[in-house]
Amino acid sequence: MKNKYQVNNKGFYGEYGGAYIPEMLYPNIKELEKSYKVIMESNDFRKELNKLLQDYVGRPTPLYYANRLSKYYKADIYLKREDLCHTGAHKINNALGQILLAKKLKKTRIIAETGAGQHGVAVATACALMGMTCFVYMGVIDIERQEPNVSRMKLLGAKVIPVNSGSKTLKDATNEAIRDWINHPKDTHYIIGSVVGPHPYPDMVAKFQAIISEEIKKQITENPTHIIACIGGGSNAIGAFYHFLEDKDVKLIGVEAAGKGVNTTSTAATLAVGSQGVLHACMTKLMQTADGQVMEPYSISAGLDYPGIGPQHAFLQQKGRVKYYSVTDYEALNAAHFLSRREGIIPALESAHALAYLNKMDIKPTDKIIVNLSGRGDKDLINLTKTVQ
Ligand SMILES: *Cc1c(COP(=O)(O)O)cnc(C)c1O
Repeated sequence: MKNKYQVNNKGFYGEYGGAYIPEMLYPNIKELEKSYKVIMESNDFRKELNKLLQDYVGRPTPLYYANRLSKYYKADIYLKREDLCHTGAHKINNALGQILLAKKLKKTRIIAETGAGQHGVAVATACALMGMTCFVYMGVIDIERQEPNVSRMKLLGAKVIPVNSGSKTLKDATNEAIRDWINHPKDTHYIIGSVVGPHPYPDMVAKFQAIISEEIKKQITENPTHIIACIGGGSNAIGAFYHFLEDKDVKLIGVEAAGKGVNTTSTAATLAVGSQGVLHACMTKLMQTADGQVMEPYSISAGLDYPGIGPQHAFLQQKGRVKYYSVTDYEALNAAHFLSRREGIIPALESAHALAYLNKMDIKPTDKIIVNLSGRGDKDLINLTKTVQ
């Protein structure tokens, strides 16, 4: 029963997941698959990671009772403050976990892909901390539009490698990172930034992010009625849901980026408009044309601008355990402004999608709602001060 929503021993969540990899990656993936659970469950590893999460990241992050938000919505609203993590978002939880794992596997060279640069910054940070060489693949279009994060990565000592192929954005950067890994199978670990990619990544990243719901469980005296989180690949959401998946009394809600609307071509709401297929080596749902070409996604928030979604989410939707909705740029932007003025917290545009869903709910006075505030809005100031229709 306990594993009803978790990966099976073949690496699948129902029909989703798996490892659709080129033969040359087989040894790398096998090595990881064989060792990740053993390492993650060892006392040594847990001690070392917990210490870093506490002293370096600043965990546990508070579960904040948002007083003025609660008054407005006439219910209890709590914010899980991942925005207070070192580097500004939940991504560091996974980056630190994986870097320690890489160390145990005696890897010396780290590669990663990044779109908005948030995952790249988290990985560059972890590499600086551990004295590891760091290469971050990034599309040239993203390098232009995410300049502050490019500078951050360089300051932290990472090499940012521009990717010129395809649409020059995240999915192309991911392809290049995979290619690099094939060429450096012995000394290199590839740190994927969300619950996507070939097995065991979705499960491994979910386990590193599960610290979010593990803390929530300790911070509450009774279960919330709802937990809401935004979905790019789905890692902050899985982290916030993980220890509540078997608690039927808790409604779990994932919010995708509708962009300019799910009826337009400018959207990133994968579960709303996508269909089944293989993306980045796993069976999942993705946005694709009738002839199977991956569609270019769009969202005002770079962290949600991904044409796929983690296989576990595709499964949780199919099982009906998690409900998925979407929120437009405009709605997210309004929610970000509202939280800033109402609580003095400027959220990341990604997290603002989760907040915006509050306006679409039929809220009862007895509701206790937790919104996972995945990150802070410093990186989004330019977009936050734009007006969008
Ligand atoms: C990257 C990012 C996301 C989206 O990634 P998930 O894997 O879906 O969590 C959400 N919020 C913030 C702040 C991010 O940086």
